[in-house]
Amino acid sequence: MRKVIVQKFGGTSVADTEKIKNVAKTVIREKENGNDVVVVVSAMGHTTDYLVKMAKDLSPNPSEREMDMLLSTGEGVSIALLAMAIQAQGYDAISYNAMQVGIITENIHSKARIIDIKTDKLKQNLKEGKIIVVAGFQGVTEDGEITTLGRGGSDTSAVALAAALNAERCDIYTDVEGVYTTDPRVVKNASRLDEISYEEMLELAHAGANVLHPRSVEIAKQCNLPLRVRSRFKLDNLGTLMLGVDKMEINKPVAGVAADLSQARIVVCDVPDKPGVAAKLFSKLAKEKISVDMIIQSYARKVSNTNDIAFTVDASDLNKTVQALELLKAEIGAQGDIQVDENIAKVSIVGAGMIDRPGVASSMFETLADNNINIRMISTSEIKISCLVDKNQAETAVKALHEAFELAGDEIADVKGDLPNV
Ligand code: ADP
Ligand code: ASP
Ligand code: MG
Repeated sequence: MRKVIVQKFGGTSVADTEKIKNVAKTVIREKENGNDVVVVVSAMGHTTDYLVKMAKDLSPNPSEREMDMLLSTGEGVSIALLAMAIQAQGYDAISYNAMQVGIITENIHSKARIIDIKTDKLKQNLKEGKIIVVAGFQGVTEDGEITTLGRGGSDTSAVALAAALNAERCDIYTDVEGVYTTDPRVVKNASRLDEISYEEMLELAHAGANVLHPRSVEIAKQCNLPLRVRSRFKLDNLGTLMLGVDKMEINKPVAGVAADLSQARIVVCDVPDKPGVAAKLFSKLAKEKISVDMIIQSYARKVSNTNDIAFTVDASDLNKTVQALELLKAEIGAQGDIQVDENIAKVSIVGAGMIDRPGVASSMFETLADNNINIRMISTSEIKISCLVDKNQAETAVKALHEAFELAGDEIADVKGDLPNV
């Protein structure tokens, strides 16, 4: 039986018609290998950013539904152009948007999760020898409402399609040669990893390494799907393969370093120190579909019997969060202000090798201290330590931690994209 390979090309790879022609060649190469090919593409170049900017010019707080209507249009252009480019080379290709395929998501705008993908039509088309080009990032609810999967979500479209079609592999082609120990645009001698565990990649993606959308790694892990990040310009290089942690030989405590510059910190001051307050606060945010990341509750002050609750959210959810909290303040009996700080960044080190290895956290804190970087919040998981620092110190922190944990390689990474990432 023929194998299905899903390929994904991001915005930089389809930024102009010349690049689209190159993508068509890469797709055809895979077809010529004797495989069935499904290609997922993002919007061209800066299109999505440009659409966001236009919306913000018109409204400070555009409705999430209309934002999804707007942003989902970007991918509609690139799928049709890529299908034409493939056809121009003499191959049979057909493009579909998410509605036509039936990429069904939850009924949430701007960060919907895929719950089902209809595959009958796709399988029929593959049988007929067609190359299928699918729009990334988009989804549709059971009721026909258009949704999007969150910025960078085309990776997730590709992996979910690969899982639904029982694909042999999902290849994420991009403007770097794989997953590196940190963003190779920030640290020039970051080293490329041949392999990384799903678990570590998931933590890195959540920590801000936007080479992969976190949900894509989650789905690949669940389905044990071979997932590769590889170069769109060095096609013979295999890039980085994601594997189960049990299949890897781990010899370093830290696999990678990442920074997330898109968070905001909120402090709710002087909330009563009694049962149920945190529950009320965070269930209100959950109801509003706001994801909370780091959380710290201070010790109760003896005299007032109150404490402060600090947490971080994605900066795009900041207005919504503050509005929800203002409504909730009286109900939970908060006596102080709601303080907001957007001048922060989360810097993380990730590694399955830090389990049961004492001293990793202290090395991280010492490195930050040696660079005069103040730590404002800390959170940990089994394989990750994150520190909140001032935004303008994030780059210094990443460089210092990358050096302290001896992650540098011998070469300078080849970075082809013309879209700076930060
Ligand atoms: P695409 O348009 O192909 O989806 P993205 O810009 O979303 O590309 O992702 C690729 C970018 O991710 C790279 O250009 C790189 O700057 C950035 N990046 C951040 N962290 C890492 C990392 N650890 N390894 C590789 N790339 C990383
Ligand atoms: N076009 C969308 C974005 O810019 C999705 C993606 O690129 O993966 O976020
Ligand atoms: Mg991307």
